[in-house]
Amino acid sequence: MIDFSFTEEQELFRQALKDWFERNLPLEKVRENDTKAKIPKELIKGLADLGLLCMTLPEEHGGAGADWVTTTLAAEEIGYWDISIALPVFFLVQASWGYVVDRYATDAVRDAVLRKAARGEAFIGIGVTEPGGGSDVAGFKSTMRREGDYWIVNGEKTYISGTEECKEMGGGYFCNAYHDRSKGHRGMTAFYLPIDAPGVEVTKRFDDMGRMAISTGGFTMNNVKIPLEYQLGEEGWGFYLTMEGFDAARLLVAASCIGAAERALEIGMEYIKERRAFERPLAAFQGIQFELADDYAKLQAVKQLVYKTAWMLDKKYEKAEQGKMPDRSMSLECAKWISMCKLLAPQLAFDIFYDTMLWFGAYGYTKECPLEMGLRGVMSYCIGAEGTMNIQRIVIARELLGREYTRAR
Ligand SMILES: Cc1cc2nc3c(=O)[nH]c(=O)nc-3n(C[C@H](O)[C@H](O)[C@H](O)COP(=O)(O)OP(=O)(O)OC[C@H]3O[C@@H](n4cnc5c(N)ncnc54)[C@H](O)[C@@H]3O)c2cc1C
Repeated sequence: MIDFSFTEEQELFRQALKDWFERNLPLEKVRENDTKAKIPKELIKGLADLGLLCMTLPEEHGGAGADWVTTTLAAEEIGYWDISIALPVFFLVQASWGYVVDRYATDAVRDAVLRKAARGEAFIGIGVTEPGGGSDVAGFKSTMRREGDYWIVNGEKTYISGTEECKEMGGGYFCNAYHDRSKGHRGMTAFYLPIDAPGVEVTKRFDDMGRMAISTGGFTMNNVKIPLEYQLGEEGWGFYLTMEGFDAARLLVAASCIGAAERALEIGMEYIKERRAFERPLAAFQGIQFELADDYAKLQAVKQLVYKTAWMLDKKYEKAEQGKMPDRSMSLECAKWISMCKLLAPQLAFDIFYDTMLWFGAYGYTKECPLEMGLRGVMSYCIGAEGTMNIQRIVIARELLGREYTRAR
């Protein structure tokens, strides 16, 4: 038998989040954060007190030991309350990449960043993309060479979420670099990069079009000394750990987009019941009802996909030992499902924000209406944060057809 219900514990958890966010993050506050381009400190503290930050880490490492279904539920809920998507980014980057860092980290990394990030006193992010391109994850230029008990790292990362927050709060990034290019993607190794390490310089903050309250920036690494105890996993595992992190992050991206789209529909429904044209509420026109019904049906379908995929991720990790890569065939099957979520959810959310904005008429084109924040926010996940749509299509096609048809090089 299949059971689609959440546990009582999960329902109580969701209700606790609803109660807290309703009090602490009304839409006016989301607008204020978007305008001021900053997540207020008290919001971060609130997330930490709720046990949401790095909630996927084991309790003994400072997290809440949450499973992926529960973490997905949290991502959906945060997306619902912050439709600008800034807080969801702050949450999901750390829940996913923090988890992967923890799986392969030494206690030195846990003490340096993870325990603090779980308390809201540091930020842990992902620094993979380089000026030369992000889709080709094995095509980057950063290098590392061994010198005694250190790796010496050189390179540049760009379009990186949270650089300003990381600089301000402390913390760092999951990164990787090549030590042996002749081995192709097996010649790269992952490491934890503290943002305040000598030789690291945060270079710029992009003037993004959306999710304004969290920064996107870049940094250079100039002969940065990374102690060997900051290496993540074994030498040559960098590419695989990056894919593992992407999988976790993409699932939570999809859940956040679902939450934001649910809110957009609610905001839209409330409005069309009130607003009148031709002596009737807009809600009485079938032209609008049919659009609502289509959007709602698609949203429920993608939501089921997202939760089934979260369940699959739990199954994958149930069998995976700390510090060892999970079973390869389960990982590949999960990657296919996760890419389906990342392909469909951001685009559907974008379409729903677009549709509901049109219901608002001219008001929908103003910043007095909250919906435009959502359109700008979810767009970041259509365009490419945590991987572009075409990259998701490549992963899905690869698993359907085989690598011989989808080899990148
Ligand atoms: C708001 C935001 C936040 C981000 N945060 C982070 C972060 O925290 N950390 C990080 O490392 N990166 C981050 N990124 C970068 C993101 O991962 C990259 O933008 C993404 O991987 C795409 O890389 P690119 O922008 O260089 O585009 P390109 O790789 O140059 O791709 C451009 C276009 O070509 C298409 N394309 C490329 N290859 C193929 C192919 N083989 N077949 C078909 N089409 C193809 C792509 O789908 C895309 O449409 C962020 C991006 C954004 C927008």
